[in-house]
Amino acid sequence: MSDPGSPADRRAEIGAATRLECKICWTVYDPAAGDPVWQVPPGTPFTALPAHWSCPNCSATQDQFLVLHDD
Ligand SMILES: [Zn+2]
Repeated sequence: MSDPGSPADRRAEIGAATRLECKICWTVYDPAAGDPVWQVPPGTPFTALPAHWSCPNCSATQDQFLVLHDD
């Protein structure tokens, strides 16, 4: 079993189109939409966001975001 808290495991789980949800305010980051608040262009994977990116709604850090599974 892998450690679900490991950042390396989490990165492996996040693909180019993977959406993530802020666990504090439920804001969803969708790579297809990007983030107009941070001027992130559409098509930017979560893993390619700038290091200083945080939740546009509540300023939660990136590790507060949970992977959303479509299936
Ligand atoms: Zn948030």
